[in-house]
Amino acid sequence: SGQSPYRILREADLRGYLAGLPAIVSQLGGAAGDWSISEVGDGNLNLVFIVKGPRGGIAVKQALPYVRLVGESWPLPLSRAHYEHLALVHQARLAPRLVPAVLHHDGPLALTAMELLEPHIIMRKGLIGAVSYPRFVEDISTFLAQTLFFSSDLALSAAEKKDGIAAFAGNHALCKITEDLIFTDPYRIAEQNHWTAPWLDATAAAFRGDLDLHVAISRLKLKFMASPEALVHGDLHTGSIMVTESETKVIDPEFAFYGPMGFDIGAVIGNLIMAFLASAGHERSPGERASFEAWVLEAVEGVWNEFSRKFLVLWRSEAKGDGYPASLFAGEAGAARLEAERQAYMARLFQDTVGFAAAKIIRRILGLAHNIDFEWIADEKQRAICEARSLKLARNMMLETPSYTTIGAVTYAARELR
Ligand code: ADP
Ligand code: MG
Ligand code: MG
Ligand code: MG
Repeated sequence: SGQSPYRILREADLRGYLAGLPAIVSQLGGAAGDWSISEVGDGNLNLVFIVKGPRGGIAVKQALPYVRLVGESWPLPLSRAHYEHLALVHQARLAPRLVPAVLHHDGPLALTAMELLEPHIIMRKGLIGAVSYPRFVEDISTFLAQTLFFSSDLALSAAEKKDGIAAFAGNHALCKITEDLIFTDPYRIAEQNHWTAPWLDATAAAFRGDLDLHVAISRLKLKFMASPEALVHGDLHTGSIMVTESETKVIDPEFAFYGPMGFDIGAVIGNLIMAFLASAGHERSPGERASFEAWVLEAVEGVWNEFSRKFLVLWRSEAKGDGYPASLFAGEAGAARLEAERQAYMARLFQDTVGFAAAKIIRRILGLAHNIDFEWIADEKQRAICEARSLKLARNMMLETPSYTTIGAVTYAARELR
């Protein structure tokens, strides 16, 4: 594969670069001059180009040496492209067909060419448009169960697991973004924080002075930093999922590292809850989005229930790891005790999931990076109402986590606020 010194590729440069890659040339068809190239990156960090030729298309992602959203004043290592590539390859093996296929990777250029997802759209946009996705629960629960189980100590030997941790340990700059932007800044004065003022001024101030909340978010932060349970995607919001009615693809795993499983599951659930509580702000006539809203809450329940069912099936049938030695659970009594322990494990994982989901909600309303679920609500007062409901739910989920014993308790609380 081609290796070149780093430079930011503009359109002409990219065309020339791709023309030198026979596999890409044959995928696109025609001559380099026939290809259309457009930059479509709408994310916070990187450039993404869509390249189309007479035969087919590709997506090309290049990391910038800084945070795109902020600019050159906030440097960020190019190595994130290496970790994203590594994660994509890993996930393709653990959860086939649920991530875009990698076609080419260039380490020094921090560039990856991958399968063009078309006509897929970013799920968040579909949700704002009140579209429901019949494949979503099935696919995302499979993605979560398979990527998390098969990278955990339940499936791997101790040596394989620690090699996996080592392979991603260098991605600490991306982890630090999460540690700061999700687990710290929304709870203190930070230059980049913003919220829908003046309506949320008092709530933002209350969150900055709430020591119970500061303890809760710090526990979650420590869990994020100090729990290498499995290879997590690390940024699994609805802007990292591309969908059609019949397909689901997870993109953008540049934050991947060995962390707590609940962080990924909570990201999905927290983002669906935001889609639900933002929905009122997108309504043009009363009740217009009622069936969509019912679907989103069913999806919240489905994600946890199906994830948990599939994870347990894997644990009962594929537990080749060093985690729970079969020799310690021999016989009928051993089997029964191990099954009870599996249930206890899932109950703990559910608590983590509830806490992380809450953390993901709060950062989108009081922190740096907001989401269009709320931002596209044009009437600021209406937006603030939706955001205030979300903050109320998230605060309760974080402080009263043990009172949420089932996913139904979470959707019940969300429904009560609508
Ligand atoms: P960032 O890390 O900057 O957030 P993403 O990987 O999320 O970058 O990609 C940004 C945008 O580019 C996505 O929201 C999506 O619209 C588009 N995109 C990314 N990958 C693909 C792909 N494989 N096919 C089609 N569009 C893509
Ligand atoms: Mg992204
Ligand atoms: Mg994010
Ligand atoms: Mg990204």
